[in-house]
Amino acid sequence: MATKLTDFCMTRAFDKSFLKVILLFAVLTTASVRAQTLALTMDDGPQLEQTPMLSPQQRNQAILAALSKYGVSAALFVTAGNGADRPEGYALAKAWGDAGHAIGNHTMTHPDLNSEKVSLADYQKEILDCDKIISTLPGYQKWYRFTYLREGKTPEKIDGMRQFLKQQNYRNAYVSLDTSDWRLNEELIAVLKKNPQADVTPIKQAYLSHIRQRAEAYRKLAFTLQGRDIPQVMLIHHNLINALWLGDVIAQFKDMGWKFTTPAAAFTDTVYQLTPRNTATGQSLLLSMAKSLLPAKFEGWERLVDDGDFEIEALKKQGQ
Ligand SMILES: [Zn+2]
Repeated sequence: MATKLTDFCMTRAFDKSFLKVILLFAVLTTASVRAQTLALTMDDGPQLEQTPMLSPQQRNQAILAALSKYGVSAALFVTAGNGADRPEGYALAKAWGDAGHAIGNHTMTHPDLNSEKVSLADYQKEILDCDKIISTLPGYQKWYRFTYLREGKTPEKIDGMRQFLKQQNYRNAYVSLDTSDWRLNEELIAVLKKNPQADVTPIKQAYLSHIRQRAEAYRKLAFTLQGRDIPQVMLIHHNLINALWLGDVIAQFKDMGWKFTTPAAAFTDTVYQLTPRNTATGQSLLLSMAKSLLPAKFEGWERLVDDGDFEIEALKKQGQ
């Protein structure tokens, strides 16, 4: 007993500093476990459409350069009719696969499954036709991203698609963190078409603050629904705004302490195996879950479904 006590006293000084190291290690480990992770996915590309400032090739290169600069491995969801069905567009999509990014399916012509004019059979043909093109690309995955994030308004379409994807061995490539980058991109293009020399810094600031607001709001929603951080899967588009400022978006996430993961790793999380009973039309998986589990107007819901109206209003006030 006595010996043990002496040993204890003798090693106390050592224990104290050792304890400090252990505690520091624990804090660091917890911090890295707690760090919010993000997988980046980009829809509707590659785009051969002309825009101000950059050619389609330059836009594609700028996006890939930003990803490469920050070591981010992303996914491109191909709408083949936007370019990949032609050799020059196929080359742009192939550059993604060659750079180690994943390639997913986002139809041929981006039809809306919720439209009464679009039949389930026609919609499925769009996916199969796109698959024929993308299955020859490096990085090809059997991942389907619903156009407009709309999964159908009738049980025939909702269940029909769930069955179809299963048969085709495809997964629903859910989005958890939805953004309205497309809306601010429209604004950017309109401003530049009117005046190619326009100062677009306010649009860049609006875009970055929009992304930050959505990221924080969806993180909070994940906590409300799951009681934890989930690997967030963010949707943005293959467009001019990201060709110009994707690097700034990534840098902002790093400043916020978020870490990047691959879409493949994110999709292994149990939350992405769920199939919500009530799909929220055109919304993220988290909003679909909220629709089943939370009151319709839960705290902060307006800023998650506003299509970037808040930022557009603020820009208008600044005279943009
Ligand atoms: Zn789309």
